[in-house]
Amino acid sequence: MTGTLDVAAVDAMDAADPLRACRKHFALADGVIYLDGNSLGAASLAAFAELETAARQEWGRDLIKSWNTAGWFQLPLQLGDRVGRLIGAAPGQTVVCDTTSLNIYKTLHAAIALRPGRRVIVSEAGSFPTDLYVAEGVISTLPGMELRLEGTHAPQIEDLIDETVAVVLVNHVNYKSGELRDMAALTKKAHEAGTLVVWDLCHSAGALPVDLDGANVDFAVGCTYKYLNGGPGAPAFIYAARRHHENVVQPLSGWWGHARPFAFEHRYAAGDGMVRFLCGTQPILSLRALKGALDVWDAVDMAVVREKSIALTDIFIRLVEEKCGQYGVALETPRDAARRGSQVSFAHEGAYEIMQALIERGVIGDFRAPSTMRFGFTPLYVGYRDVFQAVNVLEEILRTEVWRDVRYAVRGAVT
Ligand SMILES: *Cc1c(COP(=O)(O)O)cnc(C)c1O
Repeated sequence: MTGTLDVAAVDAMDAADPLRACRKHFALADGVIYLDGNSLGAASLAAFAELETAARQEWGRDLIKSWNTAGWFQLPLQLGDRVGRLIGAAPGQTVVCDTTSLNIYKTLHAAIALRPGRRVIVSEAGSFPTDLYVAEGVISTLPGMELRLEGTHAPQIEDLIDETVAVVLVNHVNYKSGELRDMAALTKKAHEAGTLVVWDLCHSAGALPVDLDGANVDFAVGCTYKYLNGGPGAPAFIYAARRHHENVVQPLSGWWGHARPFAFEHRYAAGDGMVRFLCGTQPILSLRALKGALDVWDAVDMAVVREKSIALTDIFIRLVEEKCGQYGVALETPRDAARRGSQVSFAHEGAYEIMQALIERGVIGDFRAPSTMRFGFTPLYVGYRDVFQAVNVLEEILRTEVWRDVRYAVRGAVT
């Protein structure tokens, strides 16, 4: 992109934005520029309506009947298919349940059980930490199993894949740098060695088009409270390719995964398809908030989302470098749009304090230790003028050095 980018130019881009109408579906306060939808997506009015109905009528009035009359019991599979549409999964291969951490546990065990005799899990040292913590937990239950990491045992994950590896657990978009991996190529490389892959889509579901079926992926997990806007602690999802359904098993074999939960049999018999990834009773109110959030996605084309996401992130990078480059901010995200998700990270020694100053002025991003300022761009409710203004606020904070005020150095429990 060339030429000057002034208010008139960004306003013209907003006026021509095909996703412009989406913002009115969200409950964002005026004056807030929310660049943290990659951590907690904004609340939709449809989610509020679902919560209200589910709480007052279904729970409050109809009580236990609602398991049948309001379709509570079917929500994990129904919402799974709706998430599936956004991640390139044909129906019947996605279920919404539990947390991403728990779903990593289930899918790693499932993949390892499908590759008996193989003793290695491969992952990445730069992974979101819970993925590695859970992998350690899986290993602790399987004597002889070991974890090998990109960044520790080899520079590239591809170099660690061979016939001893049962499964590769890998993030599609890196939570910190925003770097996007080539899903189809890495999956193919793993399959050539007979290795299965679990993709963590936490930072790509709802952020960009994902083609799980097309890339021949085995398993995927991800959360719904980031770009999908399901609400704080909204349940996560699991994808398992249909070709694995007949043989797949996972160790959290609770009654919701049983073929006949209400027969109350004393032996476990896994249900068909994605049912067997369920464990116990699911959080219905949270599922209903997610249902509302997904209503907003029904009219949305992921290709249009990606186009706008690239434009927003390109403009942000360009403006920050133009206006703030002299104050020591350094881009940590790939400059090539094809290699990044929908977030941009800049490093600065005062990252934490600068982010607090931004938040105080209504520009909400977040901080990742030790020195990353992270900005998420959610095309459903972030516009071009927002990007322009956010950079102006950042420039002022850096130029005046107001961020050095001691009050910005106070740290909360969640950063
Ligand atoms: C956010 C995130 C998680 C979160 O896991 P929870 O179990 O929902 O807390 C896991 N993996 C990645 C890559 C994430 O970005």
